[in-house]
Amino acid sequence: NYGHGGSGWSLSWGAAYLAVGHAAATLERRVAVIGCGIIGLTSALTALRAGLDVTIYTRDLLPHTRSVRANGSWTPDSRIALSAQASPSFARTWEQMARYSLQTYRDYLGLPGNPIDFRDNYTLSDTPLDAADHAPAPTDAGKG
Ligand SMILES: Cc1cc2nc3c(=O)[nH]c(=O)nc-3n(C[C@H](O)[C@H](O)[C@H](O)COP(=O)(O)OP(=O)(O)OC[C@H]3O[C@@H](n4cnc5c(N)ncnc54)[C@H](O)[C@@H]3O)c2cc1C
Repeated sequence: NYGHGGSGWSLSWGAAYLAVGHAAATLERRVAVIGCGIIGLTSALTALRAGLDVTIYTRDLLPHTRSVRANGSWTPDSRIALSAQASPSFARTWEQMARYSLQTYRDYLGLPGNPIDFRDNYTLSDTPLDAADHAPAPTDAGKG
């Protein structure tokens, strides 16, 4: 992952796009992907679509990867990194990943089985949500 601990699903297509760009720049046509969680799968698909020859090496196969049980929301900016630890270029990299991922996920809207859809999301609070001391509601626990 490009410095994001969480938000793997949300940023996956963008992270894959960056990784495959690095791989393609070597001019090597055979690519190895380690792991088949969401990062490995999107990297492998992106590489395949770029015409590369892909082999996945993995310990756990679907549905036994963590990614299968840990997803749900478009949350590209949750639990990313401590700003002190992030490199100066990370903000730009993050924006690239977020925009590319969103663009790609939108292509899945309306497909059979509704793999992606828009949903209204509500947060209840006794304090105004824009108050400085507002803490995330416990219902945010499912966010990655
Ligand atoms: C409760 C929870 C909810 C979440 N909700 C969201 C959400 O709503 N939206 C969102 O964007 N993100 C969410 N996340 C974060 C997201 O799930 C992760 O960032 C993402 O799944 C990480 O994917 P991954 O492919 O890097 O890892 P994994 O899914 O863990 O895959 C790792 C792969 O590498 C393989 N592997 C590991 N070690 C080796 C080895 N030594 N040799 C070979 N293969 C190896 C494994 O077998 C597996 O195939 C959530 C996380 C949690 C915990």
